[in-house]
Amino acid sequence: MEEERQGDAEKQKKKSVEKKICKRCKGTFDVSSNTPSSCRFHPSFFVSRRHDDQKRYYELGPDDPPYAAKFYDCCGAEDPDAPGCTTDYHASYDD
Ligand SMILES: [Zn+2]
Ligand SMILES: [Zn+2]
Repeated sequence: MEEERQGDAEKQKKKSVEKKICKRCKGTFDVSSNTPSSCRFHPSFFVSRRHDDQKRYYELGPDDPPYAAKFYDCCGAEDPDAPGCTTDYHASYDD
């Protein structure tokens, strides 16, 4: 029976790397490597526009009619999972 070695992997004491959760992209990020291009997001909401009232925008609901045009109000991307059109620093809930 071989004995499992655990001593080889030396536990590295990192200088308290602070991980925070971004309130915009909901991802975790390292505070020390937070740059203006770290966070990709859409500055505006994913909205629907009713064809019969084109001036009214509203957030997507589960019962949106099929004739509603759905897109990001900022860049026009029609895929709710489309990568963000803007980058900025991550913003934690503490900020
Ligand atoms: Zn966008
Ligand atoms: Zn972020």
